[in-house]
Amino acid sequence: MMGHSHALSGVVGWMAVVPLVQGTEFLGLSFHLGPGEIIAGSLVCAGAALLPDIDHKSATVTKTYGKITETLSDMVGFLFGGHRMGTHSLFFAVLMGVLVQVLALWSEMAVQVFVFLLIGIALQGLGFGLDKNRVASGIINALATAAITLALYASGVNYSWLGLAVAFGVILHFLGDMITKMGVPIFWPFWKKRIGQKVGFVTDGPVEKKVVTPLLTVGIIVGSLYLFDWPTLLPDR
Ligand SMILES: [Zn+2]
Repeated sequence: MMGHSHALSGVVGWMAVVPLVQGTEFLGLSFHLGPGEIIAGSLVCAGAALLPDIDHKSATVTKTYGKITETLSDMVGFLFGGHRMGTHSLFFAVLMGVLVQVLALWSEMAVQVFVFLLIGIALQGLGFGLDKNRVASGIINALATAAITLALYASGVNYSWLGLAVAFGVILHFLGDMITKMGVPIFWPFWKKRIGQKVGFVTDGPVEKKVVTPLLTVGIIVGSLYLFDWPTLLPDR
């Protein structure tokens, strides 16, 4: 799927999972997700749902932070065997989740940095900013990302679930790619077969444009109507 479809799937995925995990305990974490956690989680998941394509030169995530992500893309492509190989495996999902969770436990600053980076990627993927002017678009993205990160920080969002959300977003990316014709080598490096190859729709074809993307968008609208108790979110006058 295209970057924007992956990003949308991250938002829908998090919104779908919130009612299922609300009030439960998992891996020693207890989930009490308020509006801040729902918004933060949606954006983190959307950013993470773009991460696997860091192995591709022209992917949204590779272009997000210019030379930095482009260099990272070359390194990742080399380490994980090229496009749609290692970064499209459960191994990568677990690796990212654990890495983020460990660094998050180690430093509160690391949490904010990850949140900032992932929200920046998410906004880029969702098509925020202007394609025609890359500099302006980069500045708009950076300002919006900083504003959102700060607002979430100021509202005291609890990020104990950060690593899980990253792993979940990465897995959502695989599901998105599996339903296109390309398939995903989910058991890499042990078994390099691309699961779901030759079944599904063409990336950026009519099914994705006219069915998948609109459905994901509707999913977000329905999800936010269901999850948010709108009257309590509005300030008292
Ligand atoms: Zn992919």
